[in-house]
Amino acid sequence: MDLTVIVPCYNEEEALPLFYAKVKEVLARELSGIQTEFLFVDDGSSDRTLKLLKAFSAKDPCCHFLSLSRNFGKEAAMYAGLKEASGDCCVLMDADLQHPPVLLPSMYRAVTQEGFDCCAGFRADRTGEGRVRSALSKGFYRVIRRLSHMDMADGAGDFRMMSRRMVNSILACQEYNRYMKGIFSFVGFDTKWLPFQNTARAAGKTKWKLRGLFRYALDGIFSFSTAPVTLAAAAGTLLFFLALGLGLWTAVNTLAFGNPVDGWTTIVCLILFLNGIQLLFISILGEYVSRNYLESKGRPIYIIKEQG
Ligand code: UDP
Ligand code: MG
Repeated sequence: MDLTVIVPCYNEEEALPLFYAKVKEVLARELSGIQTEFLFVDDGSSDRTLKLLKAFSAKDPCCHFLSLSRNFGKEAAMYAGLKEASGDCCVLMDADLQHPPVLLPSMYRAVTQEGFDCCAGFRADRTGEGRVRSALSKGFYRVIRRLSHMDMADGAGDFRMMSRRMVNSILACQEYNRYMKGIFSFVGFDTKWLPFQNTARAAGKTKWKLRGLFRYALDGIFSFSTAPVTLAAAAGTLLFFLALGLGLWTAVNTLAFGNPVDGWTTIVCLILFLNGIQLLFISILGEYVSRNYLESKGRPIYIIKEQG
């Protein structure tokens, strides 16, 4: 196989037929000389997605599918796809046509002829996306770039074609808490960026809710940065010196000048403040410890129920 098109699908019965027809058409028109396979990963869909995939693969020998035993999440579905793909090049695409298939030929050229190991689509704008979500995403990318010292650009998504050696390096990252954007930049290699216009999904609904995105953002930060722990250390040190200063000042005030110590309000405020800070930082530590706990169990990242 020259190229494997990997498509994670979660309840995509409406978008899948459109996607399949469109990508087939582009491949037949512009990449007909190479051997291409589709690898759809059904991420525990509860609608007719799996039925559709079975129908595709019954008709088309270049069309394969994996069906996971439950919804493992997009990151796990992409990993499963990369793991089972046999192509010399692999491309990850969303099933909703938000990743324009017309870019596939130039991506293939970049990876096979221009010497890049990766060619990634880059979303040049955020039209069609809610205002709150855009603002939060932008803020998140600013924070994570600072915290992780890794090049995770706003707009750089999972739409990318990769050479076999890059795919193998990604597969070598065995962590259970997978944050693909971080893993892409962790493995390195030369990447060519192709801008594309953001479009609304072809059909169906987005699988993300604001809460899920928030968790995803925290996952990104905790998986690729230990800055929150450093922050806790800095805040702890600062508070220690503040408390020391306050204590000395109170002692001098009372002993030397005979002023009575201020009432209990100050004390209550300080106790609340310090306890709050302590709990916050304990919870940050807890995030790392619990991630470590999940990693140490060494559970599989995905489980295949059916394959075809
Ligand atoms: N997806 C998945 N598992 C999930 C959630 C999403 O495989 O748990 C797939 C989904 O079917 C789609 C892609 O990931 O092909 C992107 O999802 P979506 O379009 O909902 O995300 P958005 O484009 O809004 O970020
Ligand atoms: Mg989408």
